Amino acid sequence: MIHTGWTFEAIKRVHERPFFELLSQAHAVHKENHDLCEVQVCTLISIKTGGCSEDCKYCSQSARYQTGIQATPLMEYEEVLRRAKIAIARGASRICLGAAWRQLRENSQFNEILKMVSGICALGAEVCCTLGMLTFEQIEKLKEAGLYAYNHNLDSSENFYKTIITTRSYQERLATLDLVEKAGVSVCCGAILGMGEEIDDRLEFLHTLSLRTPHPESVPLNKLTAVPGTPLENQPKLAIWEHLRMIATTRIVLPKATIRLSAGRDTMTKEQHALAFFAGANSIHGGGIHLTAVVPTATVDFDDEMFTLFQLKKRPAYAYTA
Ligand code: SF4
Repeated sequence: MIHTGWTFEAIKRVHERPFFELLSQAHAVHKENHDLCEVQVCTLISIKTGGCSEDCKYCSQSARYQTGIQATPLMEYEEVLRRAKIAIARGASRICLGAAWRQLRENSQFNEILKMVSGICALGAEVCCTLGMLTFEQIEKLKEAGLYAYNHNLDSSENFYKTIITTRSYQERLATLDLVEKAGVSVCCGAILGMGEEIDDRLEFLHTLSLRTPHPESVPLNKLTAVPGTPLENQPKLAIWEHLRMIATTRIVLPKATIRLSAGRDTMTKEQHALAFFAGANSIHGGGIHLTAVVPTATVDFDDEMFTLFQLKKRPAYAYTA
């Protein structure tokens, strides 16, 4: 039975526990709910990069900032499938398709995306999309095409969100999450840590997720990549200890969720990954680029060495489907 009655104060008490007590508690919860030796590899394919109308202050793809990212048209179906096949051959069991725009439109591009979802689904991988706001009809069509999960991040607390993005509201984000959930598509909803928020903002984000029934099945805990040209370019790097505390607290509050290490992972050492896996992280984004930063992820060799070193198995697709 999953506990959905967390209060903000109770989450805060967990987060403030002495470091090793927090890590051991998180590890125990992790062991009870997951295979400690299994980590899922996801690969993101940016099917439409740059030129976005939104003003997310962390994002290299917003047309408002001079980041050197060129806007591209929608990637061809054949190229998307080619990349997906390579990623799957390297061990990815989940392929995320991301597009830099505010919302999904009902046009020929949407039909192309439906084709991409079906094509990748037929390769045996879980398909996740992150395409901004959408309608219930659109999420239903994506589901019919084989979509497994939809990513829509809340990034931080509602209060802090307003200071980072002004072109859409937190309530709009929550409404989109409701539609995804209503359609019976698995929810992926994450945070970006290190944007200048207070610790309470991170915990409020987690509290918001904890109140959702069911809990989101997938929670990426991204570290900000301070991209030159964006308003957050001078943000100091998030301390590993803060990242670990957030991973451990998330594991305790959302015991069944897959906690993903995504953006910012390229700056983490193997030792830091080991601690993150111990604290409850059980997925990595690899072999692609991160959507908001458009920087390379950790290399495939680095990841393979890590899997060998820690004797980890790559999680197959649909392992957690009831
Ligand atoms: S995070 Fe997404 S919506 Fe925001 S600017 Fe970047 S691509 Fe656009």
